Amino acid sequence: MALRFFNTYSRELEEFHPLDPAGHEVKVYTCGPTVYSHAHIGNFRAYLFEDLLQRHLELRGFNVRRVMNITDVDDKTIRGSRAEGVPLEQFTSPFKKAFFEDLDTLLIKRADFFPEATDPKQIAAMIEMIKTLVARGLAYQAEDKSVYFRINRFPEYGRLAHFDLAELRSTGRVKSDEYDKEHVGDFALWKAWDEEDGPVKWESPWGSGRPGWHIECSAMATQLLGEQLDIHCGGVDNIFPHHEAEIAQTEGCTGKKFVRYWLHCAHLLVEGQKMSKSLGNFYTLRDVLAKGYSGREVRYALMRVHYRAPLNFTWEGMEEARQAIGRVDDWVRRLREKAEENVQRPMSNVQRPIEEEQGTIERPQTSNGFDEALDDDLNISGALGVLFETIRETNRALDLGSLDSSAASAWLEWWERIDRVLAIGGEERALPPEIETLGEARVQARLAKDWRKSDELRDELAARGWEARDTKDGQKITRRGGT
Ligand code: AMP
Ligand code: ZN
Repeated sequence: MALRFFNTYSRELEEFHPLDPAGHEVKVYTCGPTVYSHAHIGNFRAYLFEDLLQRHLELRGFNVRRVMNITDVDDKTIRGSRAEGVPLEQFTSPFKKAFFEDLDTLLIKRADFFPEATDPKQIAAMIEMIKTLVARGLAYQAEDKSVYFRINRFPEYGRLAHFDLAELRSTGRVKSDEYDKEHVGDFALWKAWDEEDGPVKWESPWGSGRPGWHIECSAMATQLLGEQLDIHCGGVDNIFPHHEAEIAQTEGCTGKKFVRYWLHCAHLLVEGQKMSKSLGNFYTLRDVLAKGYSGREVRYALMRVHYRAPLNFTWEGMEEARQAIGRVDDWVRRLREKAEENVQRPMSNVQRPIEEEQGTIERPQTSNGFDEALDDDLNISGALGVLFETIRETNRALDLGSLDSSAASAWLEWWERIDRVLAIGGEERALPPEIETLGEARVQARLAKDWRKSDELRDELAARGWEARDTKDGQKITRRGGT
């Protein structure tokens, strides 16, 4: 089956073909956080869906070029910095730092660029776009000195959200860039400075002020990815007005179709309501970690439901995630032990002929249905179904003694391949430096055939909570208990 996604623009499942004539590069833009507080796990549901998308595209051989913006100036950041009496940059920087730490905890791949809204280069690009829109009659400066987009001059306005234009046209403009409070109508491109902005302002042809939230994404996307993108993502709350506005601004400037595929994830809910800061029903990642859950357990819990289906956050759900991860860890450990039998008994010492090693369980095919499930609009439930069915069957074969070490190695390879997409495996990606040093010393001891030293180092690692295993690919160090 071909790779296909549900496109919000057409409301249909569409086959995916990138703009790149060679079919390799995929340009993806993903709306990022507003850094006025810690991101909540609802936000991370959106970022995890985007991570799954990127990882699957990469598994399918595409070269993904991705941008995620950091909104470090808006009403909320300004309000926060004033409340604390510190400059804007000083207020936002700890939240930026925390955001990147959280991405790492959840094993979310970094985008290629994280442009910041306050970057002078980006502000200049935003001003240029607004100038073009004004010159084309698509924008105007109002009495309050702010500049607004004139939606009546852009007939496609409302297409993405499937809104009735007549209804939209009858409404007035709104100044606030707090999109959950924003109504339909003309939207601000440039906000004239007022007292509440304090020292936060930039010069522009329309006087001092700051850019609106929507123009930020149009400018950054075109600056860093070009006038046309393959995929643009966000949560469903971004569809209107934010993404609708992005289309109007960008296409108003370029005259070209801005985005081929619009992908939006459903909300993370708490007792049936959207998890959000304004409702106060949110958990940050740190809140969940403080209850003893690991990053990969949270990753699994937020990723396991199809991105277009609402997901209710519960602590029972977290427990289920813990159990699922534990099952994967146990299975991987069993497969490793089986696979290592070969290593511990090198061929030259094997008493039995090699034929006896042949098992009965079939070797995995390249994907065994995993990739195909994800090709179908990132059907993660289908993909996880493949994984857990595989675990069940191979475990049974291990119980029966009918899965040999080379089959175990083949299944491990299969697992390592699909875990490049899931990223829920317990294998540590980067070892702490002292563990790395001990591991390296153990490799050296083994090369020198100093088995006593090697065992001592193994015990030392164990005492620190790490396990050293000798596999056919060399020493592997994992955290004991797989967390
Ligand atoms: P914000 O910082 O509010 O602009 O949100 C950043 C990203 O998180 C956007 O893509 C939102 O659509 C998404 N988002 C916000 N709340 C939720 C939620 N409860 N569930 C899923 N995604 C969300
Ligand atoms: Zn955006």
